[in-house]
Amino acid sequence: MKKFHAKCFLISLSDEYMLFDSGYPADFNAIMHSWPQLLYKYLLPVNIEPQDVCLNQLEKENIKSEEIRYIFISHFHADHIGALRDFPKARFVCSGQEYKRLKKFSVFKQVSKGFVSKFLPDDFENRVIYIEDLQIVQDKIFPVCYALPFAEDIFAVALPGHTDGQFGLWLPRENTLLAADSAWTKENYTDNSLPHWIGLHFCENAKSFRETLELLKNLKNIKIILSHGDE
Ligand SMILES: [Zn+2]
Repeated sequence: MKKFHAKCFLISLSDEYMLFDSGYPADFNAIMHSWPQLLYKYLLPVNIEPQDVCLNQLEKENIKSEEIRYIFISHFHADHIGALRDFPKARFVCSGQEYKRLKKFSVFKQVSKGFVSKFLPDDFENRVIYIEDLQIVQDKIFPVCYALPFAEDIFAVALPGHTDGQFGLWLPRENTLLAADSAWTKENYTDNSLPHWIGLHFCENAKSFRETLELLKNLKNIKIILSHGDE
């Protein structure tokens, strides 16, 4: 069985921090031990050690949970939002269209789409900033690009397909794109090879998925970091 890491990324702003996704929480397997969440556990077995949990990794770097002021949510799959409750002072930045669409589904349909609403803090909606409400930026590289009001030179860019409302982060100063789950491996966009069947199962829109792969393929000289890749 192939193993995939569920990564999250720390971004240092001028005097605060932002996370790109949260990874899984320490109590993931306990939370998922009921129906229909068991379905997710069965399809994507998760092995998480205490040292893997984002909060514990930050502690090692002497960064406290309260210092994380923003969490950018690329999309709502459980491996990206699992540990949001570990950050009570953070505001969340995500696609409002994606969130509002998922919220309407039954719990069973949510889980079948990889979204486990139990991972959202109770006050999620009081702390959220919707990307679609931000200022649109005309960008030469990314067709849909928004400016983050609290971070100069960091942009939210639409990378649809894996989920309809998936966003990545474009960091021009680092010449880096955090591309979330736009692809599972580099070969998906360099060699047009298709992802593992689980990857295709958690792919909402095959047409835009392929268009996003094409976009990545054409990003010459930009460092692309995938959430489950080996980079
Ligand atoms: Zn995903």
